[in-house]
Amino acid sequence: MASSQYSTSKTSEDAILRVENLQTAFFTDKEVIRACDGVSFDIKRGETVGIVGESGSGKSVTARSIMGLVDSPGRILGGSIKFKGEELTSKSEKQYRQLRGGDIAMVFQDPLTSLNPVYSVGNQIKEALKLHQNLSGTEATKEAISLLEAVGIPDASRRVKEYPHEFSGGMRQRAVIAMALACDPELLICDEPTTALDVTIQAQILELLDELQEERDLAIMFITHDMGVIAEIADRVNVMYAGEIVESAPVVELFENPRHPYTQGLLRSIPGSNPDATRLETIEGDVPTPNEPATYCRFAPRCPKAFAECDKVHPVPLSVNEDAENHTSACLLYPEDVSQSEAVEMHRNAETESEEEL
Ligand code: SF4
Repeated sequence: MASSQYSTSKTSEDAILRVENLQTAFFTDKEVIRACDGVSFDIKRGETVGIVGESGSGKSVTARSIMGLVDSPGRILGGSIKFKGEELTSKSEKQYRQLRGGDIAMVFQDPLTSLNPVYSVGNQIKEALKLHQNLSGTEATKEAISLLEAVGIPDASRRVKEYPHEFSGGMRQRAVIAMALACDPELLICDEPTTALDVTIQAQILELLDELQEERDLAIMFITHDMGVIAEIADRVNVMYAGEIVESAPVVELFENPRHPYTQGLLRSIPGSNPDATRLETIEGDVPTPNEPATYCRFAPRCPKAFAECDKVHPVPLSVNEDAENHTSACLLYPEDVSQSEAVEMHRNAETESEEEL
């Protein structure tokens, strides 16, 4: 059975961001932590790509690698990150600074990390407008007000003069999104932007991102541990576990037909997903620290479907069956339309091929 029928490739021609085989590691005295270990995905204009997984799965390190924000003792060891065809991994800090907050902007979980408490919200937006759109004076004030209006802040012409502590949590996150938009980005990376907010405000922020995306044809990378949020916002989902993408599929397909045992576990642990259950299901155990090369399945100690080969063969993302163009799973049970021993062999061969390419 030729493994080429079951492509591992998920990149498309019109991607604005293309991440291929990204390897980011942290070097401590004791060990090397492979926080991103061969991560590949892409994002098109106007598309929201979700990255989901438990904490420690490598989601935020993936985002920080793209933004050039991996701090020592971490560094990118290999792979490629291309934005509009341009390689980012070879950029200097100075070149990266121009890109950050310009073509690519980021919204973090805690808006207070992005807002300076001693400047008014309006001044902080105007600073971004000056840096990235060369606007100043009344022109910048007008634009700051219209950005606050665009993110749904009422009475924007008065609130533009207020300080972050005068805003509620939800309003602050809206202000941070306005600041990000002031840079007129083409790609917006959102790292758990709604986690600290209550559900009503969370829903409003998700709706806002949706509207802004439509208006501006924004590409959005949305990181969360919350499958419910992913269902709301994403067009396509990448599920991460211990530094690797273990499943990737369009959102409806992923929720209707999850294949990887980890994704199945995540979906079962959504409150209300099984009305007959008396207790909420959880995945027993913790995400392991990926501190050695993956020569086996890192999910095996927690996997209810593990079998002998799972400790010996490293599964790579392969199409879940011959007809699945956009659905891959890094699990030895797939492709599902060949025998289990053939599937294991395909993973072994695909792993050897990718090692030879390095
Ligand atoms: S490869 Fe084995 S251990 Fe890993 S997810 Fe698949 S069945 Fe479970």
